[in-house]
Amino acid sequence: MRITAITVWQLDLPLHKPYYLSGGRLRFDALDSTFVRIDTDAGLHGWGEGCPWGVTYLPAHGRGIRAGLEELSPHLIGKDPRQLDAINRTLDLALPGHLYVKAALDMACWDILGKSAKMPVCELLGAREPDPVPIASSVSTGSPEEMLDEVRRFRDRGYKVHSCKVGADVHLDIKRINHLAANELDGEVMFYDANRAWLPREAITVMNAVPGLTSWFEQPCETLDEIAQVRAQTAHPICIDEALHTYNDLVRIHRDGIAEVVNIKLNRVGGLTKARALRDFCLSTGITMLVMDTGGSVLSDTAVAHFAQSIPQPSCLGVWSCQEMVSIDPAPGAGARNIDGCFTAPAGPGLGVEPDLAVLGTPVAAYEA
Ligand code: MG
Repeated sequence: MRITAITVWQLDLPLHKPYYLSGGRLRFDALDSTFVRIDTDAGLHGWGEGCPWGVTYLPAHGRGIRAGLEELSPHLIGKDPRQLDAINRTLDLALPGHLYVKAALDMACWDILGKSAKMPVCELLGAREPDPVPIASSVSTGSPEEMLDEVRRFRDRGYKVHSCKVGADVHLDIKRINHLAANELDGEVMFYDANRAWLPREAITVMNAVPGLTSWFEQPCETLDEIAQVRAQTAHPICIDEALHTYNDLVRIHRDGIAEVVNIKLNRVGGLTKARALRDFCLSTGITMLVMDTGGSVLSDTAVAHFAQSIPQPSCLGVWSCQEMVSIDPAPGAGARNIDGCFTAPAGPGLGVEPDLAVLGTPVAAYEA
């Protein structure tokens, strides 16, 4: 089987309401998503999506994905999309780094592999674990009362895992965390995500002021060096999110004992194939995982659902549903959907979701043999 064409669409995904990270340091109103369809000479095609969380969150942006696709697509024409490791080596040779560009191409190849084998992607990743995967809420930074109100709205929809965004104001953060922790329910997981906002001094102050939590702090500071410094002076479990890009990052996190949890964002780490290697390292070293994408529609969420469902419990703590935060749905009724606060990967072959071409509109680029 050979790749004959790669077609690219761009779609703005407006957020239902503005979203704030890191104590309001970062604000988001809409996401710039890129959809990719890979066609083959066997008549099969696969879909991928790449969607950074705005342009200020990570060194990734929508136009960067499309520029990278222009660079990379000619190298994939004629290749067998089912040989995922070979596809990834081709991509890495043609353009070192730029992992977020490669994730959408990798996703589309997994979709083709699944359709070719008549198996869902999660089973090709090694397993369909029996339990649906809990979706973590994403609670925007606000006053302690506002944040608890938002947690309650998520609870009403079945959510039991809550990612509460803190950062930027030490006194207010301590109040936020104490208020949320005092109102945590049995069986609920509430973790505190600073999205890199604290300096080490601030992280150490906040984390040591709120003992007895049942969960972890996520990405307290910018770099692994800073978080290692915080780690040495605090007792809470730590999760690494934005500072995990490569396999070597994960090896260092484990070797230096920096964190017990990692957040594997498929787009940031370069797609399902590279994420699979991270998953296997985590399983063999006892690191627990959250699995998400940086953003996107039901397509990205469905790839996440397949990947998360390949991980045995309790090693996967939760996923995230970006689709519920945006007001455009390119595949109504299809793919992984929130059922009682959980995702289940579709049963059909491949990803099990196809976007509606009428929603995507006119392609912005096409690459052919
Ligand atoms: Mg995070």
